[in-house]
Amino acid sequence: STNTDFALAVEDLTVSFDGFKAIDNLTLYIDRNELRVIIGPNGAGKTTLLDLICGKTRASSGSIKFKNQEITRIPEFKRVRLGLGRKFQTPSIYENLSVFKNLEVSYPEGRSVFGALAFQCTDAVKARVQEVASDIGLADRLEVEAGLLSHGQKQWLEIGMLLMQDPELLMLDEPIAGMSASERDLTADLLNRICRNRAVIVIEHDMEFVKRIAHKVTVMHQGRILAEGSMEKVQSDPKVIDVYLGH
Ligand code: ADP
Repeated sequence: STNTDFALAVEDLTVSFDGFKAIDNLTLYIDRNELRVIIGPNGAGKTTLLDLICGKTRASSGSIKFKNQEITRIPEFKRVRLGLGRKFQTPSIYENLSVFKNLEVSYPEGRSVFGALAFQCTDAVKARVQEVASDIGLADRLEVEAGLLSHGQKQWLEIGMLLMQDPELLMLDEPIAGMSASERDLTADLLNRICRNRAVIVIEHDMEFVKRIAHKVTVMHQGRILAEGSMEKVQSDPKVIDVYLGH
């Protein structure tokens, strides 16, 4: 494809584990400012696809382009620098530090050892912390120790830590797992807000939640794309009903 507007272009991507194709010749394009949800039964390859995009797993063949730049063979840390952010299910926050500190140390210059030694919390960093804290709904919790936050707040804080790096593509694996109904509502608002400035890919099982957040849905099955389009379109696709939604 020659469309340069894609945040992400995955083409003919395959990864094999001992001959088993967990991702099988998959092609996927994500627009800038798009919120894409990936659904599909367990074992469909959803997590493996995100692992390939973020560089945790290396592709057997095919290509991954991020902002039109080939990233298929570059290491994970370089992809982070280019603007890829990935959140896993278990939050990796610093429980004994304040919300403010958690966000501050996630600012790019705060991360490397040498950077941290020379790191000054400038007004620019403070302003960024304030901005992200209000995005994640924790502006009035900045001095609270992160370990004392609710489960939902910890998840938002980790999203905030990723937002400190201003990623152009953010990938989230089941962001509402374990959340209360009101925390789910706030997470839907949060996701709708953050995709205004970046592309977001979410793996999700909860169909009510998918309906609320997805611009477009990709249904995976056996390492391939079974269907793609609006929630209405994929929901009424007989192939999708057969392998997934019908159960
Ligand atoms: P999903 O996230 O859709 O549930 P996964 O991406 O976790 O699916 O898994 C897809 C398939 O690939 C599964 O059959 C899984 O066992 C296999 N798989 C994933 N990672 C590895 C690995 N590192 N080694 C061997 N098999 C793997």
